[in-house]
Amino acid sequence: MCCALLGGSLCTAETVVTTNDGRVIRGIALSKESVTDETCLRLPGGITSTIRRSEIKTVEQAVSADYIGRRIKEVPLDYAEALIDVALDRNTEEAEIKEIARTFWMRTAKNAVLAGEVGKALSLYSKILTLFPGNSEAAAGLDTCTSALHKLEREGEGLRVHLTENPDNDLARFDLARVYERMDKPDLAFAEYQRIIKGKLAFNGGIDRIGELRDLISESLVETVPVLPKTPSLRGQNSVGPWMTAETKRFLIRFHRGASIDNLAGCAEDALDKCLEAFGNALPQELEIPRMVLHLYATEKEYRAETFEPTASALCRTPSNLYAYEGTPRLLSSALPHEIMHLVTHHVAGNVPLWVDEGLAIRQEAVANLHFARLKQLVVEGKSLSLKEVLTETRSRLARRSKTGHDAFYAASFVLTEFLIDKHEIRGLLEFVQSVHKNGLATEVKRHYGYSSVEELEDEWLEYIMY
Ligand SMILES: [Zn+2]
Repeated sequence: MCCALLGGSLCTAETVVTTNDGRVIRGIALSKESVTDETCLRLPGGITSTIRRSEIKTVEQAVSADYIGRRIKEVPLDYAEALIDVALDRNTEEAEIKEIARTFWMRTAKNAVLAGEVGKALSLYSKILTLFPGNSEAAAGLDTCTSALHKLEREGEGLRVHLTENPDNDLARFDLARVYERMDKPDLAFAEYQRIIKGKLAFNGGIDRIGELRDLISESLVETVPVLPKTPSLRGQNSVGPWMTAETKRFLIRFHRGASIDNLAGCAEDALDKCLEAFGNALPQELEIPRMVLHLYATEKEYRAETFEPTASALCRTPSNLYAYEGTPRLLSSALPHEIMHLVTHHVAGNVPLWVDEGLAIRQEAVANLHFARLKQLVVEGKSLSLKEVLTETRSRLARRSKTGHDAFYAASFVLTEFLIDKHEIRGLLEFVQSVHKNGLATEVKRHYGYSSVEELEDEWLEYIMY
């Protein structure tokens, strides 16, 4: 380990760290001090990571304006924004960096205007004017945004008056939250969204409607990110409301203040790759999976209070949402891959029977094979389900089953899926379930797998379980 480098000052914008195990990490050092026992790096995608002195091999520093100008085109927007702020703050090649900042802020402001994010655009134009007081383009932008902001304020005022007389009008409240978002007041927007959810609980306990609203709210969050705190940083710092956010290539991670997302981003990306791989040649060439949203609550209590779900859960709507809490049993190794597989299955194959949906999801769990042993035991005890019961199971019937019945269904779904995939891969399985829907089980069991009857399939399946 090189002590001279570790003791050096991290006074530049981007820092490249080589860890002892050979990983190269680029990030913005969040403290101006030299590397202390723990140094926090902000990584592209808004994620922060703590690097311990003992983990670092070398530290290189990227200084030049030329480098920064190139880098901001490669990284996500919020990271680029932070990169520029830090570079300006540290006064390296001042004139060049200022010019880069002006171009970047101008472009970002124009995009914000197009997206209706008036408050955000306004603060960017103000930033330009601080550096370049006479800039006429920024001054004109600021004027436009100021009058748009006044209009939003009036709209918000109108909605607030309406809501004092009609507190149950969720649509109006939703509009008000959107107005706050556009004004770049995420904390106020969040409070309104919370009120909508709480109202539903108090007035009719309509769990289904909460589910819908929850999705609607998530959609709005994805479209108009400002409801989320703009500077995800260290746990619990600078956050607005209980939610913080981080982005990876294919996930948006929303986490409750206090929850830790260490490893979550990497595991989610990995799990998604493995889920896609699992489909093999059944994967359509033109598959587009929209960015998934992972919601991580800090505690099981908060999670249950808002979702009403017993364990981790996935909702296959647009955007695809996945809910979990810190401490979800086997979150990274099993629950996360399981739920991600539900989302992928939905995109690849659309609606599939429950046993296929669960069977495919369980196959992605690190502990999948435990289901094999459990099923064997249930068969011996005479507590397993018949093949017909497995094939025709529905969510509502499953919800009424005992704990043993529950186990029996999940274990049987996994083993049956595995058994059929052994024969004709996933592609064969998906074709099978599609044609069963049209032509019935008896016909397709014969055509796809060569059995004379459903009973014959059941016999061979039982043999597969027991030996
Ligand atoms: Zn599942």
